[in-house]
Amino acid sequence: MIIQMTGHTYDFALSDVLRLFFGRVERPRPDLLSAGGEAWYLESLVHTGPDSQPSASPVEIGSAEVRTSLWLTEADQAANQPPFLIYEDFVPLDSVRRELKRQLYVLLERITDVHFPWGSLTGVRPTQLVEQILADDSAPDKAQTELVEVWRVSPSKADLAVRTFLSEQRVLSQLPTDVPLIYAGIPFCPSRCAYCSFISQDAHRRKDQLEPYVDALLEEARQTFAVLPAKASAFYLGGGTPTSLPEPLLERLLTGLQSTLPLTRQAEITVEAGRPDTLTAGNLRLLREFGATRICINPQTFHEKTLQRIGRHHSVEQIHTAMAMARAAGFDHINMDLIAGLPGESPEDFADSLEQLLVLEPESVTIHTLAIKRSSRLALELELDSSGQSNLAINRPNPALMDMVARAQDRLVETGRHPYYLYRQKDVAGGLENVGFALPGHECLYNVGMMSDRLAVIGLGSGAISKRVDGRKVSRVPNDKDIAHYIQRLDDLIARKLKLFAI
Ligand code: SF4
Repeated sequence: MIIQMTGHTYDFALSDVLRLFFGRVERPRPDLLSAGGEAWYLESLVHTGPDSQPSASPVEIGSAEVRTSLWLTEADQAANQPPFLIYEDFVPLDSVRRELKRQLYVLLERITDVHFPWGSLTGVRPTQLVEQILADDSAPDKAQTELVEVWRVSPSKADLAVRTFLSEQRVLSQLPTDVPLIYAGIPFCPSRCAYCSFISQDAHRRKDQLEPYVDALLEEARQTFAVLPAKASAFYLGGGTPTSLPEPLLERLLTGLQSTLPLTRQAEITVEAGRPDTLTAGNLRLLREFGATRICINPQTFHEKTLQRIGRHHSVEQIHTAMAMARAAGFDHINMDLIAGLPGESPEDFADSLEQLLVLEPESVTIHTLAIKRSSRLALELELDSSGQSNLAINRPNPALMDMVARAQDRLVETGRHPYYLYRQKDVAGGLENVGFALPGHECLYNVGMMSDRLAVIGLGSGAISKRVDGRKVSRVPNDKDIAHYIQRLDDLIARKLKLFAI
């Protein structure tokens, strides 16, 4: 398929859609994209000017609403057949990109008879689209219908998106929009998981970096909050695995943060204690003294073989021990994560993991679908390469996986946990999603607030992103991801962050 882009330069957006269906996309000319052979010739047009004529080359789009269209010719008839119009629509300027993707998706779905669970939605949070559809106070049914009929989302995913959106709104109503969220990241883990692309360091091997890193982060917090004292409603200590720090260093970190972070009295404080083997009675006590209200203990699976295969190096028994210790320490809000689609696991294995998890009665559960990030060990093992063919295989609709994820989601709803946040990643198995479920009153405020793009986020630590929100405008400033660079450039990074929030 060859696509000629006329009157616009949304090549990245169209490439996203082509990649779903064909894996590899080429760009032989600035205004041409090519994927999956040359049997079809398409022209994607943004008509400009008063006569709505297509312009011959990419131009600035100058009116509030523009005409978009998609034309198709079979390549062997290109010489003697005029192209025929497939779609045409008038859309507001800020929707052009999405509309062009939608037109292309609908056509490719028809030609290939491949149907992705989230239809044409790539690069947009489904609940964000629901919010836009319901902006005129329509009933939720309208969003569900539009997701299915216009955006080609499967009915079950449309239902999930609408239900999650409604929960998100309830959670957001508890978060004042003029109060920021705070995030701090500890990029160390006991070992590296096979699917991880995060720049995390092995805490045991990088002992030399632990102290300088903690000191740098505390210095960043001190200088930042000397200038930005606004009290935050939620704080998330993530990573990595903060509990992989040796106890005295964790104590130094938590004591330092406690005296520096401006938090409201009722602030939610979450600590990622992801690896069960890092928890001890000692560090759990420190977390309690710090005021943590919510911790995450993440099994990912309850099968020993899989745990070893994915490089987590802890046992199922350690999950049970960690949970018992956390309860004994007084934690009454514990989140647990599972991953669907781990290598070597059957639907029965996954369903069994979920049942084992439910016995432990976590207040909230996040069901992830395996995403294969390019820099992960799993990507290397799967030979994820620049040809795009392996990405194609990963993203392909996978009815068995879709079914097992849907069953897990239904099972969680049966136990009284409702979906309250939802996001999607690139290169995720079966083109599926990650969903957080919680018992009423146990939703994570930070997760919802951060995802909503309605609240400012002050990020601390390597790779942390600070975010300023002015109405619909969101500006971001990331810290250096590399730990050594982060420490070296600390003053610079603090200055950039303070500049972001300067009035
Ligand atoms: S625990 Fe999380 S951050 Fe650490 S290696 Fe595993 S996936 Fe990566």
